[in-house]
Amino acid sequence: MLQKIVIIGAGPAGLLLAHYLLRRGKYDVEIYEQRSDPGLVNGSPERTFPISLQERGRKAIRSIAGLEEAIAAASVFCNGTKMYRQSGKTREIPRSVPILTIDRNRLATILLEHLTKTYSGEKLKVKFGCQCLQVDRKAKTVMLQPAQGEAFTLTYDRLVAADGARSRIREYLAQDAGLHCEQSYVSDAYKTVMLPRFNPALGLELEADKLHAWNLNKTRMMMVPQPGDRLNGVIIFDAQQNPLAELSSKEEVLAFFKAKFPLVGQLMSLDEAEALLQRPVARLVTVSCDRFYEGDSILVIGDAAHAVSPSIGQGCNAALEDVLIFEQFLAQYQDDWAQALPAFSAQRVPEAHALRELSDYSLPPTKILRIEFIFRLMTGKLLHKWFPQWVTPSIFDLLQDENLSYSQVLSLSQGWINKVKRSRSQIS
Ligand SMILES: Cc1cc2nc3c(=O)[nH]c(=O)nc-3n(C[C@H](O)[C@H](O)[C@H](O)COP(=O)(O)OP(=O)(O)OC[C@H]3O[C@@H](n4cnc5c(N)ncnc54)[C@H](O)[C@@H]3O)c2cc1C
Repeated sequence: MLQKIVIIGAGPAGLLLAHYLLRRGKYDVEIYEQRSDPGLVNGSPERTFPISLQERGRKAIRSIAGLEEAIAAASVFCNGTKMYRQSGKTREIPRSVPILTIDRNRLATILLEHLTKTYSGEKLKVKFGCQCLQVDRKAKTVMLQPAQGEAFTLTYDRLVAADGARSRIREYLAQDAGLHCEQSYVSDAYKTVMLPRFNPALGLELEADKLHAWNLNKTRMMMVPQPGDRLNGVIIFDAQQNPLAELSSKEEVLAFFKAKFPLVGQLMSLDEAEALLQRPVARLVTVSCDRFYEGDSILVIGDAAHAVSPSIGQGCNAALEDVLIFEQFLAQYQDDWAQALPAFSAQRVPEAHALRELSDYSLPPTKILRIEFIFRLMTGKLLHKWFPQWVTPSIFDLLQDENLSYSQVLSLSQGWINKVKRSRSQIS
């Protein structure tokens, strides 16, 4: 008799884990997701954003036949970042290894399509528009609320909390099972921005193989080329000083971008300004837990276990890496979850804490440190080659090396992290 795994959350972590579990041939999987079926609503643009995946995340995907190719086909590879300054000047930071970027919802859709193509409805059930409301770990049940109709209760053998930064299951474990968890809001908030990459009337075109970044005091933008000559990205701002809050018409939105981010303003149509106006502001939450499991039957994974600020673009890479590592423990302990869960947690909790430290303190808060940061980005690798005992590569170069754990990256970058911390404490 196969074990029944219930996964809550059809994000990258939940969907990739379903692939790995089904491949083992010992499980039936049911996935419940509160959002609508992306196949029916054509990928809601309300809260999506581009994700960059490095070797750390890609090697987890590669292990499932055909998946990496399918994801690469829907991605854009960028070989550098173009930074636009207020003066109108630009600076380019090249990358020796091009970075894969893909829209978060597109990534989830491909993981799902591949899953439903590979496994029959007997082994795999996926239900959208269905929110997990409650868990009872002693009875091994979850209560779910479909978009229409009555809530229902379901039994499980194992339950996976892949329900993201605001995880309902994690909240339940904190209240009922003594899980220690800190959850805090990052000061930044964001809105999704979508644009064409060209404006033929103005002869304007942003490069298709670069990330495009603007930094205007406390408001930043990052726009990433997408297949089909689009740019997806975000405008990020201090949640207490939302520069868009007072804008009430599409004309005002367009005027704001023309004044503050002129290139973006030249690419934005009034329809796009209207859509941006209607989109919700998203707050970012970080999460830090003392363990990623409960007993022998509940696993907490991905953002539900360790959401971090997107500053260094690692959350999804870490979520996918979780899946790879959890499966290695399942294989090592012959699918005995009572052993695999604590072993996974013991290895990943310190990694998650190191990732949090890196995400919180890698980016420079002052102009002087920003200059040093860019200098390190541009020269760190080369200088490290010449003077390995004196110069370490930049944090971003270290993160590219999937053989280094987050704790090792932190230990190698401790000097810079301490500098950023000191500078932050002087500002506040
Ligand atoms: C602006 C921005 C940029 C980012 N850029 C990068 C990047 O460049 N690189 C990178 O590696 N990471 C990046 N990240 C982080 C990345 O998006 C997350 O780490 C990743 O999506 C985590 O995957 P997940 O499956 O754990 O969680 P999620 O993607 O959050 O998926 C969780 C799913 O659970 C569902 N859910 C939640 N509650 C319930 C419930 N009660 N019942 C049913 N379903 C539920 C949600 O609807 C969601 O679909 C970025 C994040 C942001 C916000």
